[in-house]
Amino acid sequence: TRTPVNVTVTGAAGQIGYALLFRIASGHLLGADVPVKLRLLEIPQGMKAAEGTAMELDDCAFPLLKGIDIFDDPNKGFEGANVALLVGARPRTAGMERGDLLSANGGIFKPQGAAINAHAADDIKVLVVGNPANTNALIAQAAAPDVPAERFTAMTRLDHNRAISQLAKKTGADVTDIKRLTIWGNHSATQYPDVFHAEIAGKNAAEVVNDELWLADTFIPTVAKRGAAIIDARGASSAASAANAAIDHVHTWVNGTAAGDWTSMGIPSDGSYGVPEGIISSFPVTTKDGKYEIVQGLDINEFSRARIDASVAELVEERDAVRELGLL
Ligand code: NDP
Repeated sequence: TRTPVNVTVTGAAGQIGYALLFRIASGHLLGADVPVKLRLLEIPQGMKAAEGTAMELDDCAFPLLKGIDIFDDPNKGFEGANVALLVGARPRTAGMERGDLLSANGGIFKPQGAAINAHAADDIKVLVVGNPANTNALIAQAAAPDVPAERFTAMTRLDHNRAISQLAKKTGADVTDIKRLTIWGNHSATQYPDVFHAEIAGKNAAEVVNDELWLADTFIPTVAKRGAAIIDARGASSAASAANAAIDHVHTWVNGTAAGDWTSMGIPSDGSYGVPEGIISSFPVTTKDGKYEIVQGLDINEFSRARIDASVAELVEERDAVRELGLL
């Protein structure tokens, strides 16, 4: 029998946590034959609700779930963690300046990075979901100097999945026919969903769409503002689709991309495509055997270049701001 994989989830009592934990426990994160132990991390006010969720997890009698522990101390929560999903974050509230948001999240992600550094398993893989996700991932990574930097990633898979769905609707294609879509940059309104290298049933997606105005004025803003549209419609944020994307991100990282396809992940830049080294930016990546590689050699046209540069500039500003706050 396999040793269970330890999965730590922060913000476990939140909306995304509630949609996420049951799918992890039922085998969707790592595979239908991989037993898991859940380590739920919450702030003290979230502990009781996390216990309630743990009761429901018990009541599912999931065959793969080999234990649930709940903590409010990151040093305990990340002990032995093989996978960490950092979901809990400080949301932006009305009138909050960016500096306040970054420093409040620094207070969460810096100690979590340090706890991962000290206590996680050697093969730890980290996905940051809590916003601002890319910069929160950078803060955690900087606080974990003994962990290889590439193990810290930020989620742009929801944007990736949203873009595939919009493209399928526009062209009448099935979502499974769409390959090689890329999200570049920050998980924010500046993100750039790139269809110029994407394929729809083997044909170039930009040529199939053949409508640059639709790309610029409808597709890109629809993908970038989808979160707000869902809040408007549901009266609550996109928790289930965010949880689904977190599952997809880790599953693809661990189990690999399909031949001829790639995915999008926020990862520490190695300088590829003119993105400054070190910032955590979204790239097209292939994955294999638990490792990812940036897809190289793509031709970036002017339309794409301007948009990638704008999103990367925002990430550089965020990095400079957290550096100034002493968080790096
Ligand atoms: P959610 O579970 O709805 O969201 C959690 C985080 O995910 C937020 O930062 C949110 O960003 C982000 N997020 C990223 N992508 C999406 C998306 N597509 N749709 C919605 N959210 C997205 O928040 P809740 O308030 O329900 O729960 C948060 C929980 O975290 C609480 O239980 C709280 O106690 C806990 N917490 C735990 C901490 C810890 O473990 N140390 C620290 C801080 C909080 P955005 O705000 O931009 O929507």
